[in-house]
Amino acid sequence: MKRFDTIVMVDWSGGNDTGPSPRKDAIWAGVNRDGLAQEPVYLRNRTVAEEWLDALLTSEQAAGRRVLAGFDFPFGYPAGFAAALTGSCDPLVLWDWFEDRIQDTPASNNRFDLAGEINQRLGNGKGPFWFNGLRRDVESLARNLDAYTNPFAQKRQSETLAKGAFTCWQMGGAGAVGGQIFTGLPVLARLRRKFDVAVWPFQPLDKAISFVEIWPSLTVGSAPENKIKDAWQVSEVSKQVAAMPHAALIEILDVVSPEEGWIFGLGFEDKLTAPPLRNDCFALPPGVHWTPVAEALQRLRDRLVPVAGIETVGLQQAMGRILARDVTAKRANPPLPNTAVDGYGFAGGRDAGTVDLPLSSGRAAAGDAPGILPADHAIRVLTGAALPQGVDTVVLQEDVVVADGRVRFAGPVRQGSNTRKAGEDVAQGQTILEAKRRIASADLALLAATGAAQIDVRKQLRVGVLSTGDELVEAGDSAEDGQIYDANRPMLLAMVAQLGHIPVDLGRAPDDRGKLRARLDAASAQVDAIITSGGASAGDEDHVSALLSEAGAMELWRIAIKPGRPLALGMWHGKPVFGVPGNPVAAMVCTLVFAGPAMGLLAGADWVAPQGFDVPAAFTKRKKAGRREYLRARVRDGQAEVFASEGSGRISGLSWAEGLVELAEPAGEVSPGDLVRFIPFGSFGI
Ligand code: AMP
Ligand code: MG
Repeated sequence: MKRFDTIVMVDWSGGNDTGPSPRKDAIWAGVNRDGLAQEPVYLRNRTVAEEWLDALLTSEQAAGRRVLAGFDFPFGYPAGFAAALTGSCDPLVLWDWFEDRIQDTPASNNRFDLAGEINQRLGNGKGPFWFNGLRRDVESLARNLDAYTNPFAQKRQSETLAKGAFTCWQMGGAGAVGGQIFTGLPVLARLRRKFDVAVWPFQPLDKAISFVEIWPSLTVGSAPENKIKDAWQVSEVSKQVAAMPHAALIEILDVVSPEEGWIFGLGFEDKLTAPPLRNDCFALPPGVHWTPVAEALQRLRDRLVPVAGIETVGLQQAMGRILARDVTAKRANPPLPNTAVDGYGFAGGRDAGTVDLPLSSGRAAAGDAPGILPADHAIRVLTGAALPQGVDTVVLQEDVVVADGRVRFAGPVRQGSNTRKAGEDVAQGQTILEAKRRIASADLALLAATGAAQIDVRKQLRVGVLSTGDELVEAGDSAEDGQIYDANRPMLLAMVAQLGHIPVDLGRAPDDRGKLRARLDAASAQVDAIITSGGASAGDEDHVSALLSEAGAMELWRIAIKPGRPLALGMWHGKPVFGVPGNPVAAMVCTLVFAGPAMGLLAGADWVAPQGFDVPAAFTKRKKAGRREYLRARVRDGQAEVFASEGSGRISGLSWAEGLVELAEPAGEVSPGDLVRFIPFGSFGI
């Protein structure tokens, strides 16, 4: 499916002319052309609206621009209605049926009479339609539900899922949609005959114009006080749709419902409401030559927003996933007061001196429902048992003598000894884990203990990895002189997976702008973010940066970092592209330091600054001022060792290393024993 150039979202109205000055309850259209939002358009009645739509579709079609037009009324009825009325279950036949019969002028229309006629034919005059907005009575159309019967389902399947959606059988009244269908479908039927239109989800959207059914309340909240609700809502929806990545739109439109139709976006609300990434999200301040690492990171942190949707998974599947919402404890831990030891339970503390209590029969073990202990008795209790009523203190079994049906021990004993209070670990309703957290194995214990079984997590980010360079061949293939094996791609794909995303292998692209463009085009429809390696600099063969700048969507980030030449960051069809350098060492370091945290934000995680540790150096190093340096390092015997060579093509050193030593920007000299910051690879999430 091709991209849409123009998005038009229409809030329809079944009412009569609303006058020349903009008001609510009229027809409103929200238009977004090439991603630019237009002022909402006020259409005072349906004749005006039809003329306006006709003019818009004429000009867009003439200009070869694809249009997605949404209308806020059902395109179909509950199953069986169309066939009962028209003899065909094709909803488009029903559209024409209405178009034949509805007489509509700005001042009045026959929708209530037609509803009554249908009731007469299909429901013995008692349904399926109801509500009469006229002063005069209409035969077979009741004003209320007193004697109502409906031979069809009350709601379409989609309406049962869309919370708050109205039934299409109610012909009027606040929020009702029945009248809009009667007066809207005839207009759409005419437009459909005149223009090159496909209707969703009944037809494949391969025409110049697509009609979809919308329900703005699905994804748009209430309007600000100074705005007209209908006007505001349609412009918000059109913005949401325009901002959505094309791939997400394709996913949303992939619906099978040939008779009843469907509400656009239902089931994908999170995709519509996700704040979009701005095309300028990688823009740098003008004039700055070398950006410090911290500032580059801050910029990513400020601008990137989650693009991943939300799904509900079972407890075990939640491992490693990112929480989409805060989780509160359904149940306290422990749920009831219980004993922390094996021993004897009784009520109240005791002063110094011998305590002698009659032993009650029975015992309380873990899993037993708490019983009742008579006053001034003791009872045998086992670790984990809920305390019987009348027990708040436990004495260890090693500290008592049991004989002749009595328990004796020496005081003093503090009240509450050896017991755990209900909720002392977690209270019911307490937030146990916060949104944006990556779920660890211990979290599963906490979630399970407090009663969580289904967890709302972010869908995993799909990250494409592409290698660029004419010199590259695939591992295992024969390599000619001048060729080298593609080392970055296997490494980067594995890193993506370790970071919790879904790696998508985009293969290799030659140093050819056209081919690279085609690859990025295809990839951007398939993934949420792209990592390319190679060609990121500003040389003749640096096609990644050339292409992204050509598209006006790239920034070459000259970051004061070693290893790592410029990082090319850009947006390609709404998808962020991280163009890391080709040298494997620089490719890995730039991915760890920049792409990793950035992808975390896109995936809905918190910004994670990798935790480092100050350890004594086992090496000597003289460093120049101006750049932050990362050395391949590992810790042995409590000291940081660094790899013998700093060459950025030395792949063996990457494999040798277990982390990086980070040296700050100022010039400096490191001698053995000096403290240096060591960041284990694990801190970066790999
Ligand atoms: P570039 O950033 O494209 O100028 O590449 C810098 C260096 O990294 C060159 O020596 C490339 O041959 C090498 N290189 C680029 N991509 C890869 C790769 N995928 N695997 C191994 N080396 C690469
Ligand atoms: Mg290259």
